[in-house]
Amino acid sequence: MLTETSRENGPLRRIAIIGGGAAGWMAAAALARVLGPRGPAITLIESEEIGIVGVGEATIPPIRAFNAMIGLDEDVFVRETKGTFKLGIEFVDWRQRGRRYFHPFGVYGPDFGPTPFEGAWRRLRQVGLGQPLETYSICAQAAAAGRFARPQPGAGPLSQLAYAFHFDAALYAKLLRAHAEAAGVVRREGKVAAVNLRSGDGFVESVTMEDGERIAADLFLDCTGFRALLIGQALESPFENWARWLPNDRAVAVPSANAGPPAPYTRSTAREAGWQWRIPLQHRTGNGYVFSSRHVSEDEATATLLAHLDGEPLAEPRVLRFQAGRRPAGWVKNVVALGLASGFLEPLESTSIHLIQVGIARLLEMLPTRAFEPADARRYNRLMATEFNSVRDFLILHFHATERRDTPYWEQLAGMSVPDSLLERLRIYRATGRVFRESDELFTKTSWLAVLDGQGPEVEGVEPLAEGLPLDQVEARLARIAEATAQAVRRMPAQADFLRAHGQAGAPVPV
Ligand SMILES: Cc1cc2nc3c(=O)[nH]c(=O)nc-3n(C[C@H](O)[C@H](O)[C@H](O)COP(=O)(O)OP(=O)(O)OC[C@H]3O[C@@H](n4cnc5c(N)ncnc54)[C@H](O)[C@@H]3O)c2cc1C
Repeated sequence: MLTETSRENGPLRRIAIIGGGAAGWMAAAALARVLGPRGPAITLIESEEIGIVGVGEATIPPIRAFNAMIGLDEDVFVRETKGTFKLGIEFVDWRQRGRRYFHPFGVYGPDFGPTPFEGAWRRLRQVGLGQPLETYSICAQAAAAGRFARPQPGAGPLSQLAYAFHFDAALYAKLLRAHAEAAGVVRREGKVAAVNLRSGDGFVESVTMEDGERIAADLFLDCTGFRALLIGQALESPFENWARWLPNDRAVAVPSANAGPPAPYTRSTAREAGWQWRIPLQHRTGNGYVFSSRHVSEDEATATLLAHLDGEPLAEPRVLRFQAGRRPAGWVKNVVALGLASGFLEPLESTSIHLIQVGIARLLEMLPTRAFEPADARRYNRLMATEFNSVRDFLILHFHATERRDTPYWEQLAGMSVPDSLLERLRIYRATGRVFRESDELFTKTSWLAVLDGQGPEVEGVEPLAEGLPLDQVEARLARIAEATAQAVRRMPAQADFLRAHGQAGAPVPV
């Protein structure tokens, strides 16, 4: 016979996901897939009247692993979301007006034994030889040429291609919903009117819908976006505001007609009080100006955005308001917040959808029993804090490491004090040009190097490990890498041709 304790320690029987944006449907699809038909019953509640944010259009490479995990074929995904491929981000006017650089996915060249590639490359540059970093990145070179192919193992530089996607966020949510429902998730339309807490321990017992129905569950996922209905409103988990480092708090977004074949990269252009994104999809281009409302008005930002579109606007501009920051406790009692309910860091490096993915992976790793061991939640919150903090530092770098002082916005950001963790990286980089990846943080050495080299600070010394390198050999090797990269790019198809063969919207499904 089961004792009370063993019953409470048993597996979850019911999971309720509140919210049906990217966070809700990603969680639903993943949990249903991993936990299977014998797992807990999963219900997702969403309100069409409230709707979704619907602006998550650019991603980073780990999303490929997420799609594979839920069994979503990549060509089908690209076709159904009218997506394109992304090889990195072009940053325009960030260091100074008139200067650009590219942050590619993937890697630059190989290390020289114990000397990291960047040390050897910089040594060469310091004596006036070698080429800019981008020359050695197949992703940067392919992006510049408008070409795309999937990586080909064993084929030299072609094996180093790494990519993500641009896609229509609303279509992705629809696709995820189809997957989740096919895997047994039950969708309930309607608005949650109240969150009911259990007397005694304050766990969430149920939610009451506007029509009076009560929906109970063991575990609740708060995917209600900025409203944070459960984690913020009902459980009052505090929000840590990061506006002192990331002051942007508004975005105005508008789609426009494509002005040519879509480019296989995102463009981010620094403006007077923020930056503008350009995200090319198959059927339109997504655009937005992310800005600080203390430095520019919504009307001015809208006018700036409309003045800088490549094609005709296809809808009225839409303003979104947000705060940068996160909840240190995203898991409280039996509620786990995912997506915007858990925090938001502006979309400069397309990390929000990734942070949802990480949250889901960590939750699965520490899936609670009905006893809800508090150490699970503590560990989850600690790991998510590390994840958010390292993304935060990487974002702050873009705003702080600039030579721009032409507007009060840039003056303020260039002069701000940054977190100690970032300050340490900047000091190390300035001294020797060294970059590193802290344990398994999201952004790699390539990413840190691309942005530091693209924006500053200037490196003052030499990597000691590169001092004794025979420079003629380094030069010859880098020249070979540059040549092999250029040749490989010439063998790649234009992205438009690749899309025609793999995932063009409206094309028949390959059998
Ligand atoms: C300007 C901007 C640009 C962005 N660009 C990117 C990007 O390029 N890449 C990226 O990765 N991310 C980006 N993001 C973030 C991305 O949009 C979100 O992470 C993603 O859409 C997930 O949102 P969500 O599901 O948490 O919330 P939402 O999309 O807001 O969904 C909330 C859900 O909760 C439901 N809901 C709320 N209250 C109730 C209630 N009372 N009852 C029932 N249902 C309720 C709503 O109906 C909805 O279904 C961007 C965000 C912004 C603001």
